[in-house]
Amino acid sequence: MSDCIFCKIAAGEIPCRKVHEDDELLAFHDIRPVAPVHFMIIPKVHVASLADCDEAHRDILGRILLLAPRLAAELGLGNGFRTVINTGPGGGQEVFHLHVHVFGGGGPRPL
Ligand code: AMP
Ligand code: ZN
Repeated sequence: MSDCIFCKIAAGEIPCRKVHEDDELLAFHDIRPVAPVHFMIIPKVHVASLADCDEAHRDILGRILLLAPRLAAELGLGNGFRTVINTGPGGGQEVFHLHVHVFGGGGPRPL
């Protein structure tokens, strides 16, 4: 998707504060954090939202969820964290490339 901002971040065309990268996934800090630690995990492959996933995305979805607690602990959220997946306009999604928010570390309760 040539006009997708997260595809451009995944391709290195737009900078990010990287938390993790492997062959399939990228994690980076949110530019408008709602908590002291707030990053998101995305698949490098474009898929618009959770509602657009199918069996072909089963492995990538599993990998994202398994990566979340590992990265959260590395960033000091070993005591716990929150995960959010906004899906579709009615779910408050603004960027239509699947992403899992991971945040915590105090501050106002965002939801
Ligand atoms: P949503 O689609 O509602 O789940 O939220 C999209 C999130 O992407 C928001 O929290 C934005 O702050 C974040 N965001 C948008 N552009 C960037 C960017 N270039 N780098 C990091 N985070 C971004
Ligand atoms: Zn994309």
